[in-house]
Amino acid sequence: MSKSQTPILEWQIKDRIKETPDAYTYVFSPLSASDRFTFNIGEFVTIRVLLKRPTSSGGIEETEVERAYSLASSPTRNNIELTIKDEKPYGYINPVIGKADGFAAYFFEQFKIGDRISVKYSKAREPFLSKIASGVEKDIAYWSGSNGAECARCLLQYMEDRKDLDIRLVLFYSNPRLYSLEDKSLVGVIYYNWLLDMARKLDNFKVVFTFTRYDETTLNSDHPRISYRKGRFFKDEEGKAERTLQKFHGNAESAFNPICGSSGFINGIVKLKTGSITRGRGIMQELIEIEGVKPEKIDKEQFYLDVSK
Ligand SMILES: Cc1cc2nc3c(=O)[nH]c(=O)nc-3n(C[C@H](O)[C@H](O)[C@H](O)COP(=O)(O)OP(=O)(O)OC[C@H]3O[C@@H](n4cnc5c(N)ncnc54)[C@H](O)[C@@H]3O)c2cc1C
Repeated sequence: MSKSQTPILEWQIKDRIKETPDAYTYVFSPLSASDRFTFNIGEFVTIRVLLKRPTSSGGIEETEVERAYSLASSPTRNNIELTIKDEKPYGYINPVIGKADGFAAYFFEQFKIGDRISVKYSKAREPFLSKIASGVEKDIAYWSGSNGAECARCLLQYMEDRKDLDIRLVLFYSNPRLYSLEDKSLVGVIYYNWLLDMARKLDNFKVVFTFTRYDETTLNSDHPRISYRKGRFFKDEEGKAERTLQKFHGNAESAFNPICGSSGFINGIVKLKTGSITRGRGIMQELIEIEGVKPEKIDKEQFYLDVSK
């Protein structure tokens, strides 16, 4: 039996936009018609590049590295955009292999406008957001961790271009704080100002920001489709259970709930330094237990496994 090979596409970096101190949106153009592909909202590609990274002995090693990235632009648009967030600090050495094993920090450093990258795309059997892409679900409550709003951006652009689809979206967006911890004059929330503009522009889109670190001053909204709250979703400011979905979306029964982010955000799974795994609670458990959401009304995309520091 012959194994079908995933084709390697070639894209060129056309632009790079700084979103936050640790995240950039890259704009790509496929080099030729055969480097294009048709995709749907919620899908991802794998990019492969050569990176120079440090080793524990003080050397530099050049290796091919791959990472998955969700398509952050709508399939209805010409540009293909990926937002890349640096999770692992520059220079971090994996103690087991004695080398740096991060991607994003080195990609930011070594890839410039005009450079080319290799890209792999293969269609998953049931891609993230496929029930929205197929028109089965239209009333959406999208739950995003601090890195997880890329597919919501793709969906919002799609909603803007395909008004005929009659999709309604409430984005629940959780971040530790609004401003970057390193530089308090800079916003640390990916797409923050764009989301505010979109909420003002599209009457079928609402955004609910929550900030989980309590040092954030109270933010007040000047618009009915923009809300701010403090602390984790599903807990009010006094720590009591809150039906966040019901409160801000209005119909916990009809809402379809894509959840996107790290393992800890989605289902409370965190890897400890000892290598063992702890299981807490994430958005998924809260939706089922507090809001009575049925598992078939939940969809999820995990970006990475949370590791305790
Ligand atoms: C389907 C899919 C779609 C994705 N889409 C996106 C996307 O659109 N945008 C995006 O930014 N990412 C996305 N990711 C994740 C992406 O592939 C990278 O993991 C991410 O960009 C972080 O890259 P990195 O090089 O900083 O860290 P990686 O080398 O990829 O490592 C991430 C790991 O580092 C751990 N880590 C964080 N801080 C530390 C620390 N101080 N010390 C040690 N370990 C630490 C994290 O817990 C995590 O397990 C996606 C992943 C998948 C599977």
